[in-house]
Amino acid sequence: MMGLTPYELRARNRLLLRRAVLARLGRERSECPEVELARVEAALRRMDEGRYGICERCFQAIGAQALLTEPSSALCPECAARLKRPS
Ligand SMILES: [Zn+2]
Repeated sequence: MMGLTPYELRARNRLLLRRAVLARLGRERSECPEVELARVEAALRRMDEGRYGICERCFQAIGAQALLTEPSSALCPECAARLKRPS
């Protein structure tokens, strides 16, 4: 837990809370809790490894606003948009 900024700690708390909620969700939900849970776990792992907030495709900072919107983001908004709609 060393070396996390206050902002990262806040994101981490949100991710831990979401993980706890997802762990209790059943399969009757329309979205798949396992997929979302895997995203949350991956974000927590990136945080432990000091890679949190860095885009996995272009290695630029994802940006505080995108991370506040979605703390489990692994891509910057540009790469996420590009993946959705390949040029
Ligand atoms: Zn990117």
